[in-house]
Amino acid sequence: MAADPQGPGSDAGGRRIVCYRCGRELRVSGKALSVFCPHCQQRLVLENIRISGLCPTREVLTCGDIVVEQGAQLHVHRIWAQNIIVRGRVVGPVTARGSVEVTRSGRIDGNVAAASVVVRDGGIVKGQCRIVRGSPPPAIAPPTGQSSAAVRPSDPPRSASPPAQSLGAPPLRLRRPPLKPPGS
Ligand SMILES: [Zn+2]
Repeated sequence: MAADPQGPGSDAGGRRIVCYRCGRELRVSGKALSVFCPHCQQRLVLENIRISGLCPTREVLTCGDIVVEQGAQLHVHRIWAQNIIVRGRVVGPVTARGSVEVTRSGRIDGNVAAASVVVRDGGIVKGQCRIVRGSPPPAIAPPTGQSSAAVRPSDPPRSASPPAQSLGAPPLRLRRPPLKPPGS
């Protein structure tokens, strides 16, 4: 199962990745599972991620690949990866540097941006598909009009998540109307 892409000599000199935070290129060791981007000083995940079941995560960002397994449900602000395979359901914007594949059991409710988008027979994408050659926009848009000199060494990920939306309205309480005014 472990699709370990470490062919002999393939990663001898490391590999080039694009930072999903600032969109700039960097070179990492083939074995690294995470790295600090020298440009924006943020920690980057390099692992392949497999998602199954109900996932409470609001964002999934990696320079590796993401597989959303069949039956998995994901409500996210964003997903960003090298390649993404969706066999389950994703609600939210999906961005891949390489390809996005929606299998016959897969569904995306959101916009998709990738170098290639494949939707298998039966797969659903409810949103716009944008083919992006080269690097897609970073997951987190860098502040515009500012120099990148304002680096904070250990900045935790911004928790800009809105509060969890309530699951459905509270049950309506049925109030029986008075049958008859008493004593009339
Ligand atoms: Zn960066």
